[in-house]
Amino acid sequence: MGDNILYKSTRGDSKHLNFKEVIFEGLAPDGGLYIPLTWPIIDESQMKSFSSQSYQEIAFYLFKMFTDKSISDDDLKIIVEKSYSKFSSEDITPLQKINEKEYLLELFHGPTYAFKDVAMQFIGNIMGYYLSKEGGFVNVLGATSGDTGAAAIEGFESVQNCNVFILHPHNRVSEVQKKFMTTNYSDNVFNIAIKGTFDDCQNIIKEIFSDLEFKKNSNLTAVNSINWVRIMCQIVYYFFSMSRLDTKGKRVLYSVPTGNFGDILAGYISKKMGLDITKFNIATNENDILTRTIRSGEHIKRDVQITTSPSIDIQISSNFERLLFDLTGDHEFVKDKMKDLSEKGYYKLSNDILEKLRENFCSYSISEPEVEDIIRYYNEKHGLIVDPHTAVGLGSAAQYSTNYDVIVSLATAHPAKFKDTVRKVIENEDFVPDKVKNMMTLEDKLVILDNDVVAVKEFIKENI
Ligand SMILES: *Cc1c(COP(=O)(O)O)cnc(C)c1O
Repeated sequence: MGDNILYKSTRGDSKHLNFKEVIFEGLAPDGGLYIPLTWPIIDESQMKSFSSQSYQEIAFYLFKMFTDKSISDDDLKIIVEKSYSKFSSEDITPLQKINEKEYLLELFHGPTYAFKDVAMQFIGNIMGYYLSKEGGFVNVLGATSGDTGAAAIEGFESVQNCNVFILHPHNRVSEVQKKFMTTNYSDNVFNIAIKGTFDDCQNIIKEIFSDLEFKKNSNLTAVNSINWVRIMCQIVYYFFSMSRLDTKGKRVLYSVPTGNFGDILAGYISKKMGLDITKFNIATNENDILTRTIRSGEHIKRDVQITTSPSIDIQISSNFERLLFDLTGDHEFVKDKMKDLSEKGYYKLSNDILEKLRENFCSYSISEPEVEDIIRYYNEKHGLIVDPHTAVGLGSAAQYSTNYDVIVSLATAHPAKFKDTVRKVIENEDFVPDKVKNMMTLEDKLVILDNDVVAVKEFIKENI
């Protein structure tokens, strides 16, 4: 593996890409998402050796499976080290024990306090590596429900030869999320607030990328979770956390607050690569399209509900397409379903596919009033302070607790990032670091645009 790994589109485009091409290409020309032709398998003895390795060592080993000769081992090692040097925990993603059965996998120790840093730090560095080695200039374009944007800006601000354009839904991200994006005053960073929802932002991006001429002329590249490298980076913490647990013969559930399905898909892939994880819980808030899909097989888009966990206020779960392809291996099937979704806002899965889905996933949705209760419960019972997304994951997993011996809930954001909600339950602001308090007093740098693809294109043209 490694030396000759190639990637294909979920929708069957005939061209296979190498690692470097996949990073810069983002979305495939046929609208599909890239995945490796086959999944690398990690054998048992290698798995055992992970238990005495650092996060960075595990990351290096796994990344080698997905990269190729375009980057040497030494350079890859340097990039891995650099990418995780801005994390405040030595373990990068420390595993915290809650009680005999439950664990919290803390993914928020990066520079912008959400799990997106784990991938975005690496993407910024590796794109910067290829650009400085081979020349060229790129314009990075992304849509964010709040956290991706900040992580992308932080990941790319010091990369030479690149601009970053980030779309976020105007007034629909938390105040702290906004400040993490708009208080970066680097010349190569552009924040665009769209008068619409996150799905609108994502649709604008998809439309811009489907204009192949504009994409090529503007050297555009995507860093949304449609970018394969995001998924690749997120696989690491599943291996890391499993290497720190004794799960032999035990039933293991990972619970993941889910929006675009990138984070949980990385877990599913880690299982395909050899991890013995029984199931993954798709934890949703009131935007429960995937919970309904698992229950009935009917994937029906509804209007986006605004909740206290805005990073998962999503009705279009882009990465679900990668799962549908993996479960069926059928490009035509994926194309059909995606066509139905975009034309009718709906598709239905057959019983045999649904069965395969349920073999690996369960799902439970948490309603808005429950979120505060969950935050309170974990604070009073365990002295933890969790953010609303993490609360959705914990509360959702609790529904299945009798079925499993080990439950790992992913803590996807630091509570300070959603402090207004957390403060309704937690008495004082001691959990808010000074970095965040100071940021709140700074000016925003952003433009506000209509929900209109033409306006966004114009803005990009003017600024590149
Ligand atoms: C992005 C995000 C999620 C959702 O992750 P997906 O990969 O989109 O499913 C959950 N919680 C937080 C805090 C996030 O920023």
